[in-house]
Amino acid sequence: MSATIVRLPEPPRPARRRAPLEDRPVDGAKRVLLAAPRGYCAGVDRAVIAVEKALERYGSPVYVRKQIVHNIHVVTELEKKGAIFVDQVNEVPEGSHVVFSAHGVAPSVVQEASARQLHAIDATCPLVTKVHREAVRFARDDYEILLIGHDGHEEVEGTAGHAPDRVTIVNSPEEADTVQVKDPSKVVWLSQTTLSVDETMETVDRLRARFPELHNPPSDDICYATQNRQVAIKKVAREADLVIVVGSANSSNSVRLVEVAREYGAKAAYRVDYADEVRQEWLDGVRTVGVTSGASVPEVLVREVLDALSEAGYADVEEVRTAEEDLMFSLPKELRQDADGKRDERALGGRTRRSAR
Ligand code: SF4
Repeated sequence: MSATIVRLPEPPRPARRRAPLEDRPVDGAKRVLLAAPRGYCAGVDRAVIAVEKALERYGSPVYVRKQIVHNIHVVTELEKKGAIFVDQVNEVPEGSHVVFSAHGVAPSVVQEASARQLHAIDATCPLVTKVHREAVRFARDDYEILLIGHDGHEEVEGTAGHAPDRVTIVNSPEEADTVQVKDPSKVVWLSQTTLSVDETMETVDRLRARFPELHNPPSDDICYATQNRQVAIKKVAREADLVIVVGSANSSNSVRLVEVAREYGAKAAYRVDYADEVRQEWLDGVRTVGVTSGASVPEVLVREVLDALSEAGYADVEEVRTAEEDLMFSLPKELRQDADGKRDERALGGRTRRSAR
């Protein structure tokens, strides 16, 4: 997807005070291994820009159903600009503008918004939409769909809502051992986009042991960004005494990065939203700190963590890159033209968010 790249200003750093970390001696040189790729993916970037552009074009308030992306800092900054986050479309005044989040929605939500005469802007990530289409197609072809994902996650609700009579959610490898299907010869698995690749494959193996004719999705449902961030942290974790993942507690791919780091050799791994959550005791005896961030995390939050680590003597930062990413998505169709009907150049792609260091 080619695009003109337009650099927009970085979001402001969080105005949070924190006590400086102490530079305590350890046995050997201190260093940071900074995983790459990390942080914003194309779907998140597009969704955040969609809310910013909607505010620019229609003025405040613009309503957003659910958190536009699962990051508390991003949501707080958009609230300051005039976005109002709601849980359901029935909380949005009739005739208002509402943005659907990157995690996607069920068709019933679109219908409800239309019934309330809302002006909907659909910021569903195109890679989530791809899974929706798969669900619709397999349901139409009479398959039972085993949807591997976390029950209650917005993305899973949205995907299941595209084939409500056909989908059974499989939360874990253990559930693969007990889930029931009506016809084992007509069953397919799909997945949430932000799962652990290894755990999902374990779930699929266990499903296939019970249902040998289990059909595969046409292509990976776990998205490129989730996979790339996991590959990078696996490499870092092998050499790290401690891994710090920047990301919010409700961010599935951030939480998976903590788990993957532990599985692949990090002696300890923790998730933080902000630099002030890094604890002095985590650094005791630590020579190598791995740092990464989830797909919904702006780079400013990683920089804050690096600054805090630098105070503690971890000023030597080496980037460990395992993939290049240049994917960008066009903005939602409702925002591709400016108010005068001309094509808006910013609609051609997202920001580039290369490492600031
Ligand atoms: S994590 Fe993947 S599926 Fe989710 S918004 Fe980013 S690119 Fe899209």
